[in-house]
This record gives sequence, C-alpha cells and structure tokens, in this order.
Amino acid sequence: MSPPYDRVRNYADGEWVEPTGDHAEPVTNPATGAELSTIRFASPADVDATVEAAHAAFREWRSTPVEERIQPLFRLKSLLEEHHDELARTLVREHGKTLAEAKGELRRGIENVEVACGIPSMMQGGSLQHAAPDIDERAVRQPLGVFTAITPFNFPGMIPLWFLPYAVATGNAFVLKPSERDPLTSQYLFELIDEAGFPPGVVSLVNGGRATVEALIDHEQVAGVSFVGSTPVARAVYERAAGAGKRVQAQGGAKNHVIVAESADIEFAAEQAVSSALACSGERCLANDVILVHEAVYDDFREAALERVESQTLGDGLDEATTVGPLITPDHEARVRDMVETGIEEGADLVHDGRDWAPDGEKLEAGNFLGPCLFEGVTSEMTLAQEEIFGPVVCLAAVPDFDTALARLNASRFGNAASLFTESGREARRFTEEAEAGNLAINAGTAAPMAFFHFGGRKASFFGDLHAQGQDMIQFYTDETIVIERWDY
Ligand code: NAD
Repeated sequence: MSPPYDRVRNYADGEWVEPTGDHAEPVTNPATGAELSTIRFASPADVDATVEAAHAAFREWRSTPVEERIQPLFRLKSLLEEHHDELARTLVREHGKTLAEAKGELRRGIENVEVACGIPSMMQGGSLQHAAPDIDERAVRQPLGVFTAITPFNFPGMIPLWFLPYAVATGNAFVLKPSERDPLTSQYLFELIDEAGFPPGVVSLVNGGRATVEALIDHEQVAGVSFVGSTPVARAVYERAAGAGKRVQAQGGAKNHVIVAESADIEFAAEQAVSSALACSGERCLANDVILVHEAVYDDFREAALERVESQTLGDGLDEATTVGPLITPDHEARVRDMVETGIEEGADLVHDGRDWAPDGEKLEAGNFLGPCLFEGVTSEMTLAQEEIFGPVVCLAAVPDFDTALARLNASRFGNAASLFTESGREARRFTEEAEAGNLAINAGTAAPMAFFHFGGRKASFFGDLHAQGQDMIQFYTDETIVIERWDY
C-alpha cells in the first residue's frame, strides 16, 4: 500500500497488521480540512503481541554481527533518499508545513541514519591490561532489549529517526508510537523499513494515544522509553517509566528567547530571528519567539522584523509560494488565537495582526490558518513570555542591557534553546556559560544540533540525563558490562 493511505496500520513481527482497538478517528489535511485517512488505535492485545515479537527478535539480533546490523540502515538511507520527494509530500499533506520545510526535516532524519551506521566505532568499550596484579579489565557495551519511542506531531519524519537507527544498530529491538495526528509519514517510513531488510520484529510500529503509550511503558519486556512532546506529558511519562525501573529520556516543551545585542548586525539578526519564530508556523520546540533587543537598536530591529513578518505568504504547504502553512488542528488554531487575545488583554501591543490575514486580502476558506502576528512591549510577566505558543507569533521587547536580557531568558521555567546576536566575544562567552538552555546558538536563529551531537534540553524542557541523537543514544541504548580476567594463577 502506498500513499494515499485509506487507513493506518500497525507493523509487527515484520508484517502489516490491522489494529483492533475500539477507538478510531480521522486524519485530516490541516490546509484543506479534507479527510485523508482513518487511524484506529492499537488495543492492549496489539501492544502485547508487538512487544512480545520484538523481544523474541531481540534475542537473535543482539548477537548478529554489528556489520550485518548496519546493512539495513545503509539500505534505509538510500530508500529515504529515493523516496524523499513523495515522503515530503505525504508529510505536508497531513502536517501542513511547507514542502521545503518537510524536505529539510527529512534530511535531518536521514543524517541520524548516517550517524548510526558508524556504530561499529561508536559502540566500542574500553580495555586495560594489568588493571590490577595479573588482571586485565574490559568494559563491554551490550544492548538491553526492547525500546520504545513516543513522538510528537511536529516533526513526524525526523523525530522517530532520532531514536530508531541507534536503537537497532546497537542490537536492541525498537517499537515506534508516532503522533495520532499525523501518522501517515510513519506508514510510509515503515514501508521503506519493510523493504530495507530488517529481520522480523526488530523494528515495529503501533499507533494510538495515551492508553497505547501507557501499555508500552508498563509492558515488562520494554526496557526503556524515549519520549518527545509537551512538558506535562513528558513529566508523566518520565515518572511512570522511572517508577517502573526503566530507562527513560523525556523531552518536553519550550519557550525560547533571542538576545539581540547593541553590536549585532540588525538586518541579519531580524532575518534569522523572525524565520526562527515562524518556520513550521511556529510549531517547533526550537522556535525562538521572544526577542529581547537592546534599546539602542530597537527601532531599527523592529522595522526590519516587521518587514519580514509582513512579507510572509500564508497557504497550503504544497503551494511553492507558501512560507507559512496552517496549524495542525482546529483546536490548536483556537488555542493560539486565544494566546493572541490574552496578549492583547495583558497589554502587549499587536503591531501586526495576522488573525484575518491572507495574501489576497481574503480569508482562506478552509484549513487551520492563522497569519503571522507581531507583538511588542512583551514583559516577562505576560503569558506570551511564559507559555509555549506553538504558533506564528513573534514577541518583541526592548531591554536596557545584556544582563537584563540574560536574566529574562534565565527566568523561564523552560530551557530548550536560546540565541544571541552579537559582535562581542565577551558577551558570547558569557552567554555560553550562563544561559540556562540546552541548545545555544550564537549568530544563528535556530540552535538545531547536527545528528552527531546530542539534542540538548534542560529544566522543564527535559527529564532524564541522556539526550536524543549522537553518542548519548549509544549510552542510552546499551549498558557497560565490566569484565575482569585473570589467566596467570
Ligand atoms: P503531546 O505531548 O500532545 O503528544 C506527544 C506524544 O504523546 C504523542 O505521541 C501522543 O499520542 C502522546 N500522548 C499525548 N497525551 C498523552 C498522555 N496523557 N499520556 C501518554 N501519552 C500521551 O505533544 P504534541 O502536541 O504532539 O507535540 C508538541 C509538543 O512537543 C510541544 O510542546 C513541543 O515543544 C514538544 N516538542 C519538544 C521537542 C524537544 O526536543 N524538546 C521536540 C519536538 C516537540
């Protein structure tokens, strides 16, 4: 079955299977409201059968030579590249972001497959002869069993690949539970996985919602859980999994700030900061939506930012002219519109009102559209400065100096990302040391780590210690067994 998919299926023990849960709901195109498919959730029995098959597969996969384990990943990389355009179109139809954004997202996903192909070097342990009298000692990295990842709606093509390639390359079995709001991208991804030649049960897919997630976490054969999504759910997943004695890493929501220093290149900073706030309609955990600008350059920055907000084109992500697509659901659109109302009520100044905005002056007929909004005078007490908006809303504030800006940034309960635009090495150095966020960018709008580095996150943006991507994943997916050996006795 290739796209369009009339229904969403699970993939277990190397086969496509029909879910048997009671609950079903439509999958819709956020740009048109058109129904694309139906997703039926997995039943507890579906989850159990999937995990049991994964655990059976793990027993052989863990001792399969590492060179053999990475061959399906090389094939998966080629398949992802061969199907890049159609995969991106599938993603746009169910998510709404622009085609360029979807292609960029998939590229970042493929990067993780590439990095995981280096597992023969990355997974090595250490050894030392004569660690003690007549004793040699080794640390051996070993896989742990079945891992699951629960992923959010906003990067359906990339985020599953923050986990899947590393889990299986290290010798574990892996079960993905993608967002129920845009499950079609992973239908496509699993067709490619099916073709890539993993042994049955090594990689599986279950669809569903909260009950599915809880059944996965609680399953005694699940050794560890990765989660990416909103902070309240991240916290709940972390507590449930940790309470059951499992490995867990849970990435949560965000509220990211940008500091624009007096010395910054204003045009460049405005371009980078506005595009960081508006990319993927602001539905990014790396969106920088609070921009703190030194008062000496505030007017120039405001003008440059306004020009960029005004020049966006709202529309269907499949239309090449579109720069800002729709929001994921009507409910989410209503939530972001409420945030805009709250901003006005709390006294922020709405300089550019995107609420009735459309390129031709007419409101778009269908779809969950909200045009880009620009606020100024956003103070640290306002909801706009404290809560994640997850929509195309840019918030400006003038600040008297670098210290005030840094203090405002650090007052946030979140700690996902932050950016600084400056020509001062001293400010850059202080920012690196003092900014309380896990992903920092200097003279760049979005602090997106490459796959060979981990994806940071602190405070209410992350629960756990080992992060997604890179070397952290190798540690998360393995345990180091210590072996001491004596042959002269
Ligand atoms: P969400 O928390 O609603 O859902 C995420 C996943 O959890 C989905 O698979 C969903 O089915 C499942 N889920 C939902 N409610 C649950 C519950 N009560 N118990 C167990 N599982 C549940 O998040 P979302 O709306 O899909 O994604 C947006 C959020 O994700 C934003 O807050 C964003 O900042 C965050 N995010 C964070 C990162 C990061 O790296 N820190 C990356 C991307 C997105």
